[in-house]
Amino acid sequence: MQPARHSDLPSTDLPGTDLPGTDLPGTDLPGTGSETVSPEVVNAPGRRQSIGVKVGAVTIGGGHPIVVQSMTNTDTADALGTVRQVQALAAAGSELVRITVNTEEAARQIGRIRELLDAAGCRVPLIGDFHYNGHLLLTRYPECAEGLAKYRINPGNVGFKHKRDSQFATMIETAIRYDRPVRIGVNWGSLDGELLTRMMDENARLSEPRDAREVTREALIVSALESARRAEAIGLARDHIVLSCKVSGVQDLIAVYADLGARCDYALHLGLTEAGMGSKGIVASAAGLAILLQQGIGDTIRISLTPEPGGDRTTEVIVAQEILQTMGFRSFTPLVTACPGCGRTTSTVFQELADKIQSFVRSQMPIWRERYTGVEDMSLAVMGCVVNGPGESKHADIGISLPGTGEVPAAPVFIDGEKAMTLRGEGIAEEFQRIVEEYVERRYARRA
Ligand code: SF4
Repeated sequence: MQPARHSDLPSTDLPGTDLPGTDLPGTDLPGTGSETVSPEVVNAPGRRQSIGVKVGAVTIGGGHPIVVQSMTNTDTADALGTVRQVQALAAAGSELVRITVNTEEAARQIGRIRELLDAAGCRVPLIGDFHYNGHLLLTRYPECAEGLAKYRINPGNVGFKHKRDSQFATMIETAIRYDRPVRIGVNWGSLDGELLTRMMDENARLSEPRDAREVTREALIVSALESARRAEAIGLARDHIVLSCKVSGVQDLIAVYADLGARCDYALHLGLTEAGMGSKGIVASAAGLAILLQQGIGDTIRISLTPEPGGDRTTEVIVAQEILQTMGFRSFTPLVTACPGCGRTTSTVFQELADKIQSFVRSQMPIWRERYTGVEDMSLAVMGCVVNGPGESKHADIGISLPGTGEVPAAPVFIDGEKAMTLRGEGIAEEFQRIVEEYVERRYARRA
C-alpha cells in the first residue's frame, strides 16, 4: 500500500468569510498544518502491521501516517456551535473529528453540520460517538448515518442482555449499508459488565487466580476482539474495523495495547482516556503513548485532555501533533528549541522571544504549507546565553543566542550551522522574525 501523500489527506482550509446561510462569523482560526507528512517515516521499520481503514479521504493504519484526531465538547444539537468547534479543531490540524450523537435532536443536526462544513470548505471527516441509543438514531435519521464518515460503538453501552446483540447488529448493518467503518471502542469505565462478571467467575475457579486488575485488562481485550468478530460475522469487512481499549492508567494502557496489538491486525485507535487537566493530562498521555508508538503500536491518536473552563479545545490537537513530531514520526509545524533559562538570565527576553517565534511560526503555517515544501521540518532555536546558545543554535536550521546577564548586549544568529549576523538593540525580536521569513522563502519556496 502506498503511503499517504499531501493530496490524500483532508483539506482543513477555512474560509475567511461568513458561511452561506448561517450567522457564523468569519474565521481567522490558527492553523498548524496537517496535510504534510514526511514520507520517509511513513513505513518506519518496527511499525505494527495493520489493515488500513478508510475514513472519508483519510486512511487509518495500513502503513499510513499516524492520524491525529480530536473530539468536540459542544452540544451537537447546537449545529452552529459544533461547526465552529469542528472548524477550529480541523484548522489546528485534526484530521478526523468526533462528535457526540446522543439525542434525536443531535442526530437530526448531523446532515446540516456536514453541509455547513462542506460549504465552508472544511472537509474533515466526522465520526459519530454513540452510546445506548445509537441503533435507533442511525436507523431513524438516514442523514445522520450518511453524514458521518465513521461510527464509534462502545460494546459496553449498546444495550443489556438479549437486546445487546440485536442493537449491536443494527448498528453494524447500518455501517454496512452506508459503507462506513466502525470503531469498536471499549472503555475501562464502561466495560461490558456481564463479560467482566463471567471472566471474574472463571478466574475465581482457577487453582491460581490472576489479579483482578489483570482480569479486567483481559476483559477489555476480549470485549474488543469478540465484538470485532461479531461485526465480521454480520458482514462488516475487516478493513472497516478499528479497535480501541482505553484506560486511564499509563501502565494499564501500555499492557493492554501491547497485548491487543499482538493479538490482531485491526487498525488501532490509541489514547489514554480521561487523561485529566493541564500538565498532568499532557504528561500522562505522552508517557503512555510514546512507549506504545515507539513499539510501532497505534494508527490514530487522540489526547483526551480536560480543558480549563473556557479553555481552548484545540490544545489536544497540538499536544497530539507535538508527541508525533518530537518523536520523529510526523512533522506538522516547525518547532522552537529553547533553553529553560537559569541564573544567567535575569530578564524574560529570551522566553518572550521563544514564545513569539513559536506563535508566529504556528500562525504562518496555513500560508506556508501552501507555498513552501518541507517547511514543517525546519528547526529553530532561541537560547538564553553564551553557555549553550551558540552550540544549540548551530544545530538548528536557524537559531539565535541572546545575551545572558553581564554579556555583551549582542545576539548572534546562526543559519545552517554558520554564524550569519549579530543583532543588537531594541528590535531583535522583529529582526529575527524577518530573518526567519527570509530563510523560509529562500530555502523552501516551491520551484516551478
Ligand atoms: S543556555 Fe545559558 S541561560 Fe540557557 S539554561 Fe543554559 S546556561 Fe542558562
